[in-house]
Amino acid sequence: MHDSSLVLGVDLGGSKILTAVVNIEGEMLSRDHSITPAAKGPEAVIQAMLESAERALSQAGIAAAELEAICIGAPGLSSPETGVLFTSPNLPGWKDVPLRDIIEDKMGVKTLLINDANAAALGELYFGAAKGARNFICITLGTGIGGGIVIDGEIYAGSLGTAGEIGHMTIDANGPKCNCGNTGCWEMLASGTALEREARRRITDGAETTILNYAEGDINKVNAEAVHKAAQNGDTLAKEIIAQTGYYVGVGLANLINIFNPELIVIGGGLSNIGDMLLEPAYKAAGERAYRAAFDSVRFARAELGRNSGVIGAAAYAFREIEKSSK
Ligand SMILES: [Zn+2]
Repeated sequence: MHDSSLVLGVDLGGSKILTAVVNIEGEMLSRDHSITPAAKGPEAVIQAMLESAERALSQAGIAAAELEAICIGAPGLSSPETGVLFTSPNLPGWKDVPLRDIIEDKMGVKTLLINDANAAALGELYFGAAKGARNFICITLGTGIGGGIVIDGEIYAGSLGTAGEIGHMTIDANGPKCNCGNTGCWEMLASGTALEREARRRITDGAETTILNYAEGDINKVNAEAVHKAAQNGDTLAKEIIAQTGYYVGVGLANLINIFNPELIVIGGGLSNIGDMLLEPAYKAAGERAYRAAFDSVRFARAELGRNSGVIGAAAYAFREIEKSSK
């Protein structure tokens, strides 16, 4: 591997596919964004990934043969060892798909597979808010909650490779039912989806609020952004719902702090864009619940790579694996 090495990062999401040719500095030489045909099943999604890869390569003006590797960051449970995607709540119809080998065969380039939240953690570690950290957790607050746990500079993958599913730790054993089959998971209480659900419930119950004014008057269009806008303009209910979601974010943070004693927690994802209104109640709840010494030693940071964290992180993983195998 030398300074001019290039890899292809692929961020496979339930709604979009992001593909980029990335250099060793973490810079994107090209970037292709397309819609995931998730409802059409694995074959259509894989085809869309291949087409996106071709566009990213031609945009960068290089051939597949010039790539050192491809790395796919994918949602759900997968094994980096076998390259199999077992299951994914965001990709209906996927069961034990040997995604790594399929892409490797079609592209003729060494291919790797990693969990998308782990990819985001590596992106922040090499090129973002976690540079130099040894023990940290990267949390993505979005439609769900993703997590990447880094211990001694390495992703903690667990025995099968499925570790880090922090969004599915139980926060309220009697809470709402989750897609994973459990009840009261963290992401059922502290994600963007949870915030939207709570806002809709309160509006339906007849609460006095201006939230609908920011959602074209349509309850189905009430999203985290609408609630945030209403709160910024002084809506009491919107502020209360954001504070409550923040509180639940903090309950989960306290658990993570007590279990892992991280030096740093990086928080990203669309919901985190709400900022202090969400995060201050989160830090407060975490401080009240976690062991004092562990809480006092943790630093909180906002993710720096935004929507590109997954694709850049997948590329970072590829570079690191190439380097390891060349030693
Ligand atoms: Zn769950």
